Amino acid sequence: MQKDQFLTRRRMLLAGAAALGAAGSAGVVLAGGAEESAPHAPAPLSGPQARQALKSSAFRLQPLTDDGPPRAAPRRLKVRTEPILRISGRGRHMMLTFDDGPNPDYTPHILDTLAKYDVRAMFFLCGECVVENKKLVARMADEGHVVGNHTWTHPLLTTLDRREIHDEMKSTSDAIEESYGERPQWFRAPYGAWNRAAFQLGAEMGMEPMAWTVDTTDWMTPGTSTIIDRVESGAAPGVVVLSHDAGGDRSQTVHAIREWLPHLIDSGYHMTVPPRRL
Ligand SMILES: [Zn+2]
Repeated sequence: MQKDQFLTRRRMLLAGAAALGAAGSAGVVLAGGAEESAPHAPAPLSGPQARQALKSSAFRLQPLTDDGPPRAAPRRLKVRTEPILRISGRGRHMMLTFDDGPNPDYTPHILDTLAKYDVRAMFFLCGECVVENKKLVARMADEGHVVGNHTWTHPLLTTLDRREIHDEMKSTSDAIEESYGERPQWFRAPYGAWNRAAFQLGAEMGMEPMAWTVDTTDWMTPGTSTIIDRVESGAAPGVVVLSHDAGGDRSQTVHAIREWLPHLIDSGYHMTVPPRRL
């Protein structure tokens, strides 16, 4: 019975996604009201505003069914059945995400480029890299970036049992808290391979599941110009861009962002991150 309800709901979501797909939009817009009681994706923030908002109690993530003041972590969240693929809000807002780091060879260059243009991004970190690169994680905190949990060893979660998934997620949140100063409030499954346990455990640990809209395919090292083209042709309001600052030779990623980031800014895009709830 419950499974049938789940499937019906899922079908509705997919039907909604198909309709949106026809309009040229990839993925499910969770913020569009597809799920009546679902928490919304983060409202847009960008540039200096984002930095200011970190200290502003006036701003908060669109709730979580609760208009009260921010609660102490870990918040227990509603268990989703699909990850968030896009951000909500009007206007030319996009979100940049970088996975698998931090990495001492590539992450500093990406941080330098983001700083040059006064842009904040999300970094989905692996615990085993966090403990090796604590200073880079601290730099992310200092420069207003938002970090998420990307497991400890980057396994395919669908091959693990619940206890193993729990340990991958929990140990990474612990390591992030130690270096970043806060527990992560976002989780991304390696390879985009989600399962029910990942959604449930993420919700228990106060983390929303975040996927992406546009994959730069930088992990295939297709050439700097191909990466630039993927980002610029995929640019649209609400898009979440996936890049990688670790996991292989990421020099193409480093070179590409130096090109595509100013191009997007010149095109009127504002790069946003979710607010940190302190
Ligand atoms: Zn990854």
